[in-house]
Amino acid sequence: MSSRPELARPAVAPTDSATPPNAVQRRPEFRGWTLWRRELLRLAVVATIGALVGVWFDAPVAGVAVVLVLVLLVQIRHLIQLRIWLQHPKRYDLPEPGGLWGEAFDALLDLQRKNRKKKKKLAAILAQFQASTAALPDGAVVLGPRGEISWFNTAARTLLGLRVPQDIGIRVPNLIRHPIFTDYFEKAHFEGEVEVPSPVNNSKTLLLRVIPYGNNQRLLIARDVSERQMLEVARRDFVANASHELRTPLTVLRGYLDMMEMDAQGNGVLSPWAAPLSEMRNQALRMESLVNDMLKLARLEAGRAQARDEKLDPPGLIRRTVEEARTLSKGQHRFEVEIDEGLKLTGPEAALHSIFQNLVTNAVRYTPVGGAVHVSWRETAEGARFAVEDTGIGVAPQDIPRLTERFYRVDVGRSRASGGTGLGLSIVKHALDAFDAQLDVDSEIGVGSTFACMFPPHRVIRDPVPGSTKDSLPTAH
Ligand code: ADP
Repeated sequence: MSSRPELARPAVAPTDSATPPNAVQRRPEFRGWTLWRRELLRLAVVATIGALVGVWFDAPVAGVAVVLVLVLLVQIRHLIQLRIWLQHPKRYDLPEPGGLWGEAFDALLDLQRKNRKKKKKLAAILAQFQASTAALPDGAVVLGPRGEISWFNTAARTLLGLRVPQDIGIRVPNLIRHPIFTDYFEKAHFEGEVEVPSPVNNSKTLLLRVIPYGNNQRLLIARDVSERQMLEVARRDFVANASHELRTPLTVLRGYLDMMEMDAQGNGVLSPWAAPLSEMRNQALRMESLVNDMLKLARLEAGRAQARDEKLDPPGLIRRTVEEARTLSKGQHRFEVEIDEGLKLTGPEAALHSIFQNLVTNAVRYTPVGGAVHVSWRETAEGARFAVEDTGIGVAPQDIPRLTERFYRVDVGRSRASGGTGLGLSIVKHALDAFDAQLDVDSEIGVGSTFACMFPPHRVIRDPVPGSTKDSLPTAH
């Protein structure tokens, strides 16, 4: 096979001013019919020459036949050369025949050059992409339709311990074997993110998030949140410890204040101090409730991961809570209770008690004398619903989204006057997290409010206890 520099074809007609000087020069473009005419003319010329030579030997037909066979052999030779070149384009060069074959070979070389250019460009983009993702502090893993790993960056190697090429093609739940991640991945909802210990180093915590994209593909992002988590734990521990430490001196102070107040009520030496002593005692009580609520919140936050789930009896707990609320109300409110007796829950008991107590107490505190509080515990299509409805002062729509923030009060004076700490609904929100439950608030100023907790089906247990109880007792004695 002939060998010549690949790009050394003679320039026939430059077609593109942007073509580099050493590029294959294109021949003029012809339409199909023009090509047919030109080739048939060439064949006719060759056949005529063959006929003329044949006349010399007194056999013009044989002359034409011989020439046509030669033409056919040349075509077959070019086809064979093309076939060999297509198989090993790097080892052999295409020949430079004239005519149609030459043009076809030129076009092929041009195509090959363009493809190489495109490949180089793509490789450069890929290298750039890989360099930028390698610089990312977050691990990025590209997953196929079955969750199999098809690519990952350098951070994914350090954070998740992935190896090339061993882990390519392996399903990611087989490598990150934490039940929280497996559950998150197999559910395939991919809302939010999950925190799991790093498979490489147990003391590190990773925040994993799966983002679906394209044609059934997914991107797994892994972020090291150990430091943030450590700070969060330190903050929580500080609040819990500070609250715990404050409790003892407060109890001592309150004990003395109780004694002194008792003395001041009579005709003792402290009687001129009766008013300040009563105020001091009230403030000490307020500090005690604040410290208790802060401790409760810190415990709820800390206990989320290791909260013990047990079978709970919400009907019994609701009845007890309503009794406490009746005491707080001192007969000034009407209570209605509607309970589905067979509807039970699984979860941590202290958390459920906090939810019920805070919501029912708030309904009493924010409902003027003579108002009604309706408490219900029912099964719904989405699980179970605990609702406290009151005919109280209500909350403005713009305040509703902020009610569960720590220390957020719509009316600070009113909250304090009724013994509020501003932490009640924050505690409710955290306690509901332990049940994977949601809080729904519906309220209208001057009409009343409904605080409803929606417990998901996986937390609900149905006991074979018939019916529900309804109790509508006016508590005014
Ligand atoms: P607080 O100790 O102040 O009651 P919470 O966190 O329990 O703190 O409640 C936050 C705020 O939400 C309250 O200050 C009050 O303004 C409002 N709120 C809570 N429950 C009710 C209710 N049932 N009716 C009207 N407002 C309420």
